[in-house]
Amino acid sequence: MQSETKYIFVTGGVMSGLGKGVVSSSIAKLLQLSNQRVSCVKIDPYLNYDAGTMNPIAHGEVFVTDDGGECDMDIGNYERFLNQSIPRTHNITTAQIYSSVIESERRGEYLGACVQIIPHVTDAIKDRIRSIAKSESLDVLVVECGGTVGDIESLPFLEALRQMRLEEGSDNVVFVHVTLAPSLDVVGEQKTKPTQHSVQELRRIGIQPDLMAVRCSRLLETSAKRKISLFSNVSEKDVFSCHDAESILMVPQMLYDQGIIDVIFKKFGKVGLVNTSTNWDKWNTIVNSFVNVKDQVRIAMVGKYVKLADSYVSVNHALKHAGSKIGKNVVIDWIDSEELNGEVDRLSQYHGIIVPGGFGERGAEGIIKTANFAREKNIPYLGICFGFQLAAVAFGRYVCGLSSANSTEINPNTQDPVIDLLPEQKFIENKGGSLRLGANEIKVENDTLGFKIYKSNTIFKRHRHRYEFNQKYLELFNTKGLQFSGYSDSKKRMEILEIPNHKFYLGVQFHPEFSSRPGYPEGSFEAFIQAASSA
Ligand code: GLN
Repeated sequence: MQSETKYIFVTGGVMSGLGKGVVSSSIAKLLQLSNQRVSCVKIDPYLNYDAGTMNPIAHGEVFVTDDGGECDMDIGNYERFLNQSIPRTHNITTAQIYSSVIESERRGEYLGACVQIIPHVTDAIKDRIRSIAKSESLDVLVVECGGTVGDIESLPFLEALRQMRLEEGSDNVVFVHVTLAPSLDVVGEQKTKPTQHSVQELRRIGIQPDLMAVRCSRLLETSAKRKISLFSNVSEKDVFSCHDAESILMVPQMLYDQGIIDVIFKKFGKVGLVNTSTNWDKWNTIVNSFVNVKDQVRIAMVGKYVKLADSYVSVNHALKHAGSKIGKNVVIDWIDSEELNGEVDRLSQYHGIIVPGGFGERGAEGIIKTANFAREKNIPYLGICFGFQLAAVAFGRYVCGLSSANSTEINPNTQDPVIDLLPEQKFIENKGGSLRLGANEIKVENDTLGFKIYKSNTIFKRHRHRYEFNQKYLELFNTKGLQFSGYSDSKKRMEILEIPNHKFYLGVQFHPEFSSRPGYPEGSFEAFIQAASSA
């Protein structure tokens, strides 16, 4: 039953949104820096099969993996911290587990047994986690359980994790519990009662945490640490302060300085595993590049879901990655395209304009006007997916004289469907998992901005769309000065658009933000910020 892999299970208490994802990613990063083969898994106890059908304003961005998974945004955190791609199987939901159990039952695999949460559902959860560890030959797998202890939905998952400690042995499993120690005002005492209660709740279901990671606005006070230790039955040296930091990338160092790696290795019975200095040097250079930025580059992000910063979290990060690479502080103003109305003039104060992905009619006209404004005023423009499509619509309307140019997503009866459904999408009825998803090959033409950015004729980029440029208009657009410099599937679909005589006007049908990493910004973002900072 026992595997070679060690497990770190991260649970959360008090409330959601505490940054369990950052704690999990930071621990994984420290292990990776200590030469461990490591990866992360996110459990989402909700009943959606995946994050694909969820509104980004309510739940944050849908992160797309190379293999076409529509995942929770924490997967993006893991990829960015670890600088490695995470497969879609690493995002486990209740719906996936129950579907597999029900399918097995229908196939008669339970041989007449009454199928129950314990052991059948918990077995399915454990199998899924173990199969990831095994198939990827991991030294350590960090598993983050979403939600808050006490939620009904997460109970089967926590029960499965509890059983795993029993089966794998306590020196192969470490439980980390992330909680909050609020202080009522800036100088006030840090309160530990919510943490005490959440640990009690965790113990009630049979889980004794090994480590506590306590979120707080400033360094956790000794007195608070002592109380938490006493009430949680966790020794003081195993209580870690996760106070606010200038950048989330500083959290690994913060935890390392408090000795977390030694504590984890000791629990795992591993000795002599020290960080190699070259790994640390590289990572620290990257972290410092985010802190030592000068000169502001002001970017307007005009989108549909700007009310929640998490809706475009990968785009925000990708912009920062690009800025830090060239030593510039990227300041992003989120502008709701629906509220922009006719007032696009206010965008002239920005060094660059970015339009991220989006779905549906609301706010689309504001984006079309934005794309046109950037073109007319020679302001650097980067359009992603929806931003690519609506830039083409704007070009159709304002340059090619197609006054009713539109996407059929916005107006299904338009006379000029410049953007139309992908042919293979026409007969699809289910919304879930049915978009064109994941990494696909794109060919890039020589002597174009696209080639200047990617320095290659072949690139692979992640996608998430149902609509595309309508080839019927290709020649007209070309003659009017818009060039398609990247395409896929033997020119069946257009992937990159540019306007050669513009300072920087680039639209991409794919999502470059998902492959941008700290220290390694994605090419189109880097070129965009470079152009904006010399604007
Ligand atoms: N709604 C558009 C489509 O489905 C764009 C999608 C996106 O921006 N991710 O093609």
